[in-house]
Amino acid sequence: MTADEALGYVEAIGQHSDAHRGSVDAGLPTPPGLYVAGAEPMAQLPDLERILDCAKLHRMPVELVTSAYWVDSLEIAEAVLDRLRTRVHLLTITTRRSDVDSYGLAAIDLLLQAIRRFDISIQILVTVGPEEPFPKELLALEVVNSDSTVIRIEPMYPNDRSQLSPQSGAWPEGFLMESPPRHARCAELLGFVITPGGDVYPCSNGIGFPELLLGNMTTHTIVEMLDKALAGPQLNKLREEGPYFLFDDFRRSLPLEVLPAGYVSSCDFHRQVMARNQQSASRVDSTA
Ligand code: SF4
Repeated sequence: MTADEALGYVEAIGQHSDAHRGSVDAGLPTPPGLYVAGAEPMAQLPDLERILDCAKLHRMPVELVTSAYWVDSLEIAEAVLDRLRTRVHLLTITTRRSDVDSYGLAAIDLLLQAIRRFDISIQILVTVGPEEPFPKELLALEVVNSDSTVIRIEPMYPNDRSQLSPQSGAWPEGFLMESPPRHARCAELLGFVITPGGDVYPCSNGIGFPELLLGNMTTHTIVEMLDKALAGPQLNKLREEGPYFLFDDFRRSLPLEVLPAGYVSSCDFHRQVMARNQQSASRVDSTA
């Protein structure tokens, strides 16, 4: 996705939001929040500023996700934050055990120090997995020991699931969930996620699954895609109830063991079920 394309998408969503401000028909909160993630957004600062200016014009609150590894000094961190301070509401720093082992914590430490001068909220998102335990040294940073820093922990989706199973010993005892939480809903995770090719999905964890594809920014209007998101019975059920109903359906018809190797969260369970459906469909196609 080029910066111009991204700018066009934000402008289109902003115009839709402005036209429906305060209306229950908007399909999105008005104004919607903008979430900028992928690669390193700070690497293209002028383009990023253009996109954030557009978001600001449409009064969108912005969350920006960064690795922090562009920070070489306190001066650089402060100079970048100074340019972004009226445009960004929440800065999310992502890290994990292997990143801390490879790059250390100096860049994160400097960014956290710098951000205190600016009116931007901050959170640290740490992904953890069987071989990626929480980097405890993060808690030893003096700058983290403040009530202004939130640490969020997310399970990691292993790339090669075939090597991992609850029985293999790779997952610590109790790490895998036995069922998705009964009352967890998708509502908090659903949005309007635009991938580099312009495809739109309701959530980032659903990217790539045709069942969840809402359309494409170049071939569908925003209204068409929002209508699809709001009219779909399964998406509505996911929004209201979360994936527990899928779990119930699934275990009534099939043993859970047919899923590749346990799962680490509700989204991971849903992705495994969708991946299994795709494999079954392609087997039917190839025998037809
Ligand atoms: S459970 Fe499924 S629909 Fe809900 S947020 Fe996760 S991947 Fe998306």
